[in-house]
Amino acid sequence: MHLRWEFQGVQDPGKPTDPPFNVAPEWIETTVKNITGFWNNRTQAGMDQLTALTSQDAAGKKRRILIRYYLEPVKADRHTLIKVFPAGTNGRSNMGVSTGELRASDNEPNKETRRFTAAHEFGHATSLSDEYVENSKDASYLEAGFKSYTPGSPYDFDRDADMVANKEVRARYYWHLAEWVASVEGGGASYTVEQGNYRYQIAPYPKGLSPRIRTYHSYPVVEMSVVNRPSPRAKYDVVLNLIGQDDFGKGDRPGSLAPGHVTDGLLLVLLKMKINFIETNDFWAIRNTLSAIDRKIKRTFNYRDDDHQGKWYFRGRFSGSPAVEFSKCALLFFPRFLVPNFPGPKDSMVEDYARDVEVYQEDANKKFDYVHTSREYTKVVTALEGMRHFDVFIKSAGVFEEHSAAWDSPQGRKLTLTTGWFTDADELLAAELPRMIGIEKKAEDVTAADLLHVADGILLDASIDRF
Ligand SMILES: [Zn+2]
Repeated sequence: MHLRWEFQGVQDPGKPTDPPFNVAPEWIETTVKNITGFWNNRTQAGMDQLTALTSQDAAGKKRRILIRYYLEPVKADRHTLIKVFPAGTNGRSNMGVSTGELRASDNEPNKETRRFTAAHEFGHATSLSDEYVENSKDASYLEAGFKSYTPGSPYDFDRDADMVANKEVRARYYWHLAEWVASVEGGGASYTVEQGNYRYQIAPYPKGLSPRIRTYHSYPVVEMSVVNRPSPRAKYDVVLNLIGQDDFGKGDRPGSLAPGHVTDGLLLVLLKMKINFIETNDFWAIRNTLSAIDRKIKRTFNYRDDDHQGKWYFRGRFSGSPAVEFSKCALLFFPRFLVPNFPGPKDSMVEDYARDVEVYQEDANKKFDYVHTSREYTKVVTALEGMRHFDVFIKSAGVFEEHSAAWDSPQGRKLTLTTGWFTDADELLAAELPRMIGIEKKAEDVTAADLLHVADGILLDASIDRF
C-alpha cells in the first residue's frame, strides 16, 4: 500500500506571533521511518515482521502475498495534505479524506504513554475507523458516552490497540486488504491475514449487500434495539460482532477479550443511562461516582476477577447472512453515560471540561462565560438524551434516611438511588442492572439461564457458559 503525503508547516493559532513549524527534511525522514516501521511491524532490531495474506485453493495450492506499507513525502500529486502544527498546539490531530493535521511531536511514540498519534492517523488514511468510544465530547464526564464511531464499538475493550489508544498494531487492521484482493481476483479465493503468531480470518462481507466497502471487522452482523422483552421494563441495544484471532480474539495475552480462550464472537449489551445528580454539580464528585459505577458494572457482569475480562459466553448458530456457528461468543455489558449537570462553581477544571465537550472554545478575545457555556452544554445534552434507555437519579440520604434503589413503577425506566453511609451509588446501580435487561432480580440472584434470553432472536440453539 502506497500513500503520498505532502507536509506543510503551519502556525499555532493561539500564538499568532510565532513562526509556522519548520518541516525540515530530517523531521520528514523520522516521521516516515516511524510510521512505516509501525505498520510494517518492525522489531526493536529493525526487522520488518512481514504481514502476509495467505490462501489455499481446493487443489491445495498455497499463495502468499506480502503486505508492505510505503509512505512517500511529495510536493505534488499528493493523496493527502498534512498540516503540521508546532508541538503543544491545542486541539486534536486528525485525518480527513484530503487533509490531515498533526502536531510536530506526534511523529514518534510518546515516551511516557507510548501513544503514537501519527501512526493512528495513518491508520485512518488506510481506511480504518476509530475503535474507541468518545469520552470527551458527549457530556459523559470522561466515561464512555452514548455515541459510537462504529456500531457498538466492540474494540473499545482492546485497550492498547492502535485505533483505540494509538499503541499496537493488530492483524484485523489488514483485513480489508484480504477482502479486496479476493474481490479483484474473483474465483472465490479467501485469504487469511498472517502476522506473527496470529492468523486472522472472518466471514467476508456478502457480495450482494451494500455498501460493498464494509467488512465485518468494523461492522456487526447484527445490531438491534430490544424493548419490553422479557419484562416490560427492558430497554437496551445488542450488537453481535465476528471476532478473528488477532491479539484481541486469540486469548494469548493479558489484554485479550478472554485470556486463555479463543473467542469467535462478541455480543455487546449497550445500556445508555442518563445520570442526574440531584444535589451536587461538583466535577470530581460526579466524575468519581461515574467512574466507580462503570467499574462496578464491568466487574460484576464482565470479569471473572478484578483484572481479567471474559465471564460469560454463548454457543449458538447465527442463521442470517453470513451464517456463523459460534463456539465462544463473549458477552460484555457496555454502560454508556450522559450527565445533564454542568459542573460548578467555575474553576479551571470546569473550563477544561467545557473545552472537552466543545461548548467553550479557547479564544483570546472571548472570556469564559459561565451562563452562556452552561446553556450550550444543555444543548449538547438535549441533542443526545433521546438515545437514552434509562434515567437514573442520584441523591444522598438524610441522617435517618435509608439507602435505597427505587423504581418509579414496576415497569418504569426511572431509577432513584438514595446513597447512604454504607452503600454507594455504584453498588446500588449494579444490583439493579439486571432489571434494565428484563431480568426482575438483583444482580446477585441472576443465573446463567436468566442471561440466556439476551441471545433470543439472534442465536439459534443457544447455550451459555462461563469462561
Ligand atoms: Zn482517530
